[in-house]
Amino acid sequence: MTDADYPKIAAPIDKRAAPADWFRADAHPGDIYRIGRANDILQEIFGRVMPRNGFKQRGDQTDLAMEILANFCERGILLAEAEVGIGKTLAYLIPAVITRRARLNEGKTRSVTSSGYPAPIVVATSSIALQRAIICDYIPALSDILTAGGIIGAPLTAALRKGKGNYLCRRRLNHFLQFADARAKKLLQPILDSNVVDLEFFTNLTPYIKSHISVDKICNKHCPVRGDCRYRRHIAAMNFAVGSLCESNKLLPGKIQGRGGLDFQVTNHNYLLADAIRRANGQPSLLQDYQAVVIDEAHKFSDAARGMYGFSLDYSEICDIMGSARKLKFEKGDKTGDIGDSTNKILSRSGKLFRYLNDNATAGETDGEVERYATRITDNAARLIRELRDNVSKLIEIISIKRVSESQKHRMINVSRELDAAAETLMAFARHSRLIYWLEERENAQSSSEIRLSALHGIPKNLGESLERHLWRGNIPIILTSGTLSAAGNFTRIKCIC
Ligand code: SF4
Repeated sequence: MTDADYPKIAAPIDKRAAPADWFRADAHPGDIYRIGRANDILQEIFGRVMPRNGFKQRGDQTDLAMEILANFCERGILLAEAEVGIGKTLAYLIPAVITRRARLNEGKTRSVTSSGYPAPIVVATSSIALQRAIICDYIPALSDILTAGGIIGAPLTAALRKGKGNYLCRRRLNHFLQFADARAKKLLQPILDSNVVDLEFFTNLTPYIKSHISVDKICNKHCPVRGDCRYRRHIAAMNFAVGSLCESNKLLPGKIQGRGGLDFQVTNHNYLLADAIRRANGQPSLLQDYQAVVIDEAHKFSDAARGMYGFSLDYSEICDIMGSARKLKFEKGDKTGDIGDSTNKILSRSGKLFRYLNDNATAGETDGEVERYATRITDNAARLIRELRDNVSKLIEIISIKRVSESQKHRMINVSRELDAAAETLMAFARHSRLIYWLEERENAQSSSEIRLSALHGIPKNLGESLERHLWRGNIPIILTSGTLSAAGNFTRIKCIC
C-alpha cells in the first residue's frame, strides 16, 4: 500500500465534549481522536508518543507495524517473521488498536458486533506466559500511553478466553484426591499449595489427571463449594477493563468491560481453532465475533492443529483408566472378577500394541521441544487396534450393568467417560486409512524400557484442507508471527504445515 492508500480516519470524537458524551450509546465510544490517515497516526505513535514514554524508536518495528496495518485493511494472510528484540508485540497491538478504534474495516465481514460496536481483534498465542504478558503488561501500558497521549478516547479493554477444561474444579479435585495414588497426589500438591485456578500453570499434570480435576461440561448445581468456587469468581471477573485482573490467579475483582465493547480477545491456539471449527459447522461460536486475528508464536500453531484435528492414544493413560476401573466398588452380589479379566486383557493387548509400535518406530523429526518418531500402522498393528477396541467396548458393557453405591456413582461416571473416549479414539484409528502416524515420549508417563514412546498420534493427511476451510478462507485478516517462521528466509515449511 502507498501512503495515499491508507484509509482516512473519519468520525473523530469532539475533544471538547464532556467525557460522558463520548460514551453515548449512539456515539463511537473511545474512537481515535485524530483525523488523518491511519499510517500517519501509526507513525506518530511509534515516532513520538512511544519514545516520549521511554520506548526506543526502531525502524524495523515501525515497518513491521505498517505491514500489519496494511494487512488488516487489505484483509489478507500475512506471515511476519520478527527477530528477537524488534518489539513484535507492540508492532501488532498498535495497528490493531488503530484498526478497531478508527473503524477501518467498517462494512466488511464481521467487523461489527451484534451490539453495533467494532468487533474485537483476537490475539492467539501458544503459551500462557505470553497471554499473561499481553493482558497484564502490554495492553495496560499501551492503554495508559495512548489515552494520556490523546490518541484514544477511552482505555483499552481485553478479555482472556479459554475453555472450561483449563480451569480447576475444586469439587472434582477433592473427589479425585480420595482415590489418587501417591504419584498423582505428588503432582497435585502444587495446586493444593496455591490459589491458582488456571491449570495451564501446572505443566507437569498428565492429560488424564487434568481431565479429572478440570471444570466439567455442566457445572454441578448442588456443588457444596459453589459459594466459594474460584472458577466461578474467575469467570465473573473475565470481561474486565485491562489491568483489573492482571494477577488473574489472585482473583482481583474485575471491572466489567466498559461501553464500547472489547478491543482484544486473548486466547490460545487451540481455542481459536475450536471456535473456527464450530463456526464452520454452524455451531455456536466460542469467541465473540472478531474482525481480525493475530496468531503469535505461530511456529507452534501446527502443534495445536495436530492436537485439534488428530487423535492420540496414550499407553500410560490406558493403565490409569484400568487402575480406576479395578478400584470400583459394586453393590453386594455384583462380582468383580469379570472386571479384573477384562482389564487384564486390555492391559496385555495395549502393551503388545505399544511394544510393537516402539519396535517399528523410526527416529523422526524434532521441533526443539518434541521428538516425533514416525510409525506405520501395519496389518498386525491394525489388528491389535481392532482387538483392543473390542476389549474396551466389552469392558464398557460389563460396567454398564453393574450397580454401585451412591458414593461410587461419580467415580463410575468418570471411568465410563474415559472408556468411551478411549473406544472412540481406537475407532478413529481403526476407521481412518488416510492418517499420518507418529509416536512421542510423554513426560511423567508410566513407561518401561520396552515402551519408551507411550503416546501414539495420528492426523489426517488432508489437515491443510481442513485449516483452509475452517480458518484461512474466512475472509478475516490473519497475521501469523513468530521469531522463527522460516528456514533461512524460506517460508515453505510453515506454508505446508498450515
Ligand atoms: S461450582 Fe462448579 S466449577 Fe465450582 S467447584 Fe463446584 S462444580 Fe466445580
